[in-house]
Amino acid sequence: MKFIGAHVSASGGLFNAPLNARDIGASAFAMFTKNQRQWKASPLTADDIRAFKDSMKTCGYTAAQVLPHDSYLINLGNPDREKRKKSLGSFIHELERVSLLGLDRLNFHPGAYLDGDPEAALLFIAEGIDEALHAVEGVFAVIENTAGQGSALGRTFEEIAAIIEHVNQKERVGVCLDTCHAFAAGYDIRSREAYEETMSRFGNLIGFDKLMGMHLNDAKSTFESRVDRHNSLGKGNIGLEPFKFIMQDDRTDNIPLILETIVPELWPEEIAVLKEMAKNE
Ligand SMILES: [Zn+2]
Ligand SMILES: [Zn+2]
Repeated sequence: MKFIGAHVSASGGLFNAPLNARDIGASAFAMFTKNQRQWKASPLTADDIRAFKDSMKTCGYTAAQVLPHDSYLINLGNPDREKRKKSLGSFIHELERVSLLGLDRLNFHPGAYLDGDPEAALLFIAEGIDEALHAVEGVFAVIENTAGQGSALGRTFEEIAAIIEHVNQKERVGVCLDTCHAFAAGYDIRSREAYEETMSRFGNLIGFDKLMGMHLNDAKSTFESRVDRHNSLGKGNIGLEPFKFIMQDDRTDNIPLILETIVPELWPEEIAVLKEMAKNE
């Protein structure tokens, strides 16, 4: 079963996210559980939680179809101890929100080493993940691969594997594979052979038991550019065909497959195209 959707808006209340997903014909969705550009968020009330859960039920979504994304401000690899602490506190709050909403995974970017040392930052990230998982039960920490822009870590599968390697509670760590980021990072998926090669590298280094979501984005940026610029499906440098490889790959069954493409008006059509590709498995 393929769960296909988009990163929808939750403005006006988190309960709107499932409704917005249903409106575009999605069988999965992603959302922010708070304003992603601010540290602070008012705590979730019992009413917020009830309304969200009701809306999930009404629209027929389960936790396995939802991939919440954390704030862009969080950097678990920050070399500055105080700032790292602030990020960790915020990350723990986000895991708590996910848990309160009855969801089971939180998608996040590993972090950046800034003016510090990349090796040290990988360890900080692993430590942060462990501490956060210790603080909150029942939620998976889902690391997203990055384009490797600036000092962002998580560009290579090796880096992600190294983070997981240093986490004690490995069984509670997942990975989200973003096609645009992978492509910009130098993982080709444009031909059937390239796709299989990239996926087998993922399988060998990380393992498909860890794959808990994907972001389906075409790329405005070019191959190996390390630039993170998404595009609508079929309109960028990846092209439409590789998304057929993904839709016909049973290793991507039963996890949220999320569009973060740049024209929301196209989402219903993009979802329909992906569903059609999945049908011809
Ligand atoms: Zn992301
Ligand atoms: Zn992404």
